[in-house]
Amino acid sequence: MKIAIIGLGSVGSAVATAVARTGVAHEMFLFDRDGVRARAAAEDLGHAAAFSFDIKITAASNYRAIRGSDVVIIAAGANQKPGETRTDLLNANVAVMSDIIPRVMANVDARRVLIIIVTNPLDVMVMLAQKLSKLPAARVIGTGTMLDSARLRTILSRSLGVSTQSLNTYVLGEHGDSSVINWASASVGAVALDDFCRQTKNPLPAAARRTIEHRVRNAAYEIIRGRGATWDGIGAAVSDLLLCIARDERRILTVSTVDGTGRSAVAMSRPRVVGAGGVMATLSPKLSPAESVALRRSGQIIRKNYDSIGK
Ligand code: NAD
Repeated sequence: MKIAIIGLGSVGSAVATAVARTGVAHEMFLFDRDGVRARAAAEDLGHAAAFSFDIKITAASNYRAIRGSDVVIIAAGANQKPGETRTDLLNANVAVMSDIIPRVMANVDARRVLIIIVTNPLDVMVMLAQKLSKLPAARVIGTGTMLDSARLRTILSRSLGVSTQSLNTYVLGEHGDSSVINWASASVGAVALDDFCRQTKNPLPAAARRTIEHRVRNAAYEIIRGRGATWDGIGAAVSDLLLCIARDERRILTVSTVDGTGRSAVAMSRPRVVGAGGVMATLSPKLSPAESVALRRSGQIIRKNYDSIGK
């Protein structure tokens, strides 16, 4: 598989490192508007690859070398500074996406390429990239709440004393402040979360759930305060998504793609079956009445932000 990564800042570099370590790609092309940075990243990653899998890693100062890519990952653009929300990045990253997508599309095979969006505000960027690329919605995929769901599993795993791998717990909606934790369909292995808590005498009362929700939604803010940016979590999320696509695994992932058409179109995260062709099906999990309202509101916020860019 040939992949291309556009944007080699903290996130793009972490994505490149994580992807190279999977061995899933035989070739990786790196592009950043700062060509020196992209070439240095290609060099450094090439050396690291000598300890793992054979992979050809190159960088260039134009998009021609992107030709033949199966998947293009877009991680370019402004990131959050301490105290900023993802929506604060909207105008800066509309310009970045409007610059990148036409250049990508001029050099890839539109009949088969998949685009993975990482740039924030994630869901609006997915909508914009899908519109500009004219690709089917199923092949323009935002990492969405994959990372938020991983954060939820990590926190729950520590609190319940069970492996993250056994937790079927998802965050839905916006990859942002209006995200929704889907407690109503949460399960541990084959057991509903509430039953698991009863059986293991490990109660998870409403107040504890509210604390968990707060920690999940604020995880990025906390990491940015302490580390300046977030990169390891998203690097792992993208490499996991890429593996799922490359091996046609058809796993359920909470990725973001555009649903609907015209004025009602919106991109947000729902549980979706992901395989070689991108998003192959979208599922409707059981929601509590409050979750249902919150999810609708989340979609409205994303749509309003998209409308505000006038595209
Ligand atoms: P960064 O500032 O470290 O790097 C951004 C890179 O993009 C820079 O190298 C810059 O030169 C490049 N760039 C900017 N405009 C470009 C253009 N038009 N063409 C090519 N390259 C361009 O930022 P970062 O920390 O790597 O974050 C990148 C994006 O990822 C941000 O929008 C951030 O909010 C987002 N992010 C998303 C998630 C997620 O879960 N989806 C997680 C973390 C960060």
